Amino acid sequence: MSEQKILEIRELISAIRNNERFMIATHVRPDGDAIGSLLATRLILQRLGKRADAYAQDRVPPELEFLPDVLAIQNKPIESVEYEAAILVDCGDFERVGDELSEFISRRVPLVINIDHHVPNKPFGNIYWVETSASSTCEMLFDLCMNLSLAPDADLSTLLYTGIMTDTGSFRFSNTNKRVFEMISILVEAGADPAYISTQVYDSATPEKLKLLAQVLGTMEFHAGSRIATAELTRSMLTNSSASYMDSEGFINHLRSVKSVDLAILFREGGDGQVHVSMRSREGINVAKLAQRHGGGGHRQAAACRIQGSLSAVRSQFIGEAASYIS
Ligand code: 5GP
Ligand code: MN
Repeated sequence: MSEQKILEIRELISAIRNNERFMIATHVRPDGDAIGSLLATRLILQRLGKRADAYAQDRVPPELEFLPDVLAIQNKPIESVEYEAAILVDCGDFERVGDELSEFISRRVPLVINIDHHVPNKPFGNIYWVETSASSTCEMLFDLCMNLSLAPDADLSTLLYTGIMTDTGSFRFSNTNKRVFEMISILVEAGADPAYISTQVYDSATPEKLKLLAQVLGTMEFHAGSRIATAELTRSMLTNSSASYMDSEGFINHLRSVKSVDLAILFREGGDGQVHVSMRSREGINVAKLAQRHGGGGHRQAAACRIQGSLSAVRSQFIGEAASYIS
């Protein structure tokens, strides 16, 4: 463990010890690492005898509803509570926590603690522990447990396992290494059930979701000598399939599965005049940088941004920009 990391964890631990009333929050459109790290932090604080409320502004996706204590998550800030500290987990930007929660925290909470593994655009937080080399925020929380000599129980293990599994693409991405498997081994020993968790997360789709996927893949195109694959999701596809926008998380992985593809791009019509541009790339192409040009961000191999404009205009302009970016 690096000196810097030891110092950051120590500072975090003393901030936890010196306060009693915490709120924990994660990002909008939460994924497995977001909800996993949110609920895991809550359990860790509770084990330390602290009071902690968990917040996510957006709904928990159905495939994560099996997670322990998921019903404890609140959507709206409780105005009557005086929190001493807010811990933000898995939030690359402060604003990613959502407008209502970011406004509440800015106005009401004196201490902001940032625990994250995204490439930061604008670093934030009074206490700052960001490790871009960590596979997931859940991996960092595993380290926190080890530093606290706190052995994960079955519930905590299930949460941490889920975050690590989803952020490593089921142990397939380049952030999957020996350390990940060492942690996973300990979490399984402590009660995380790999088959149960992966069935819940990956094999719980609805027929509507697959109908939506069929429509989205129907729009697939290849550019730049098949190095770029694109697809789009329109609002009318949602109506046609009776699926929800949330159902389209993960669709982009199909585009990346093509051998020749170095960059996969999914364009999703937001319904608010914006297009959500998701990107996944192979090693050597830093899509976080490309997303940051448009006010977004993420990781080197997985990033996203929102661009104002019609789907067709954003699409053609962005494909041109992406093609010159990778060449
Ligand atoms: P996705 O394509 O799944 O929406 O997002 C890919 C990655 O980029 C995720 O790690 C996500 O946290 C990050 N990301 C998505 N949207 C934004 C955004 O608006 N701003 C920042 N900074 N990161 C984002
Ligand atoms: Mn994450």
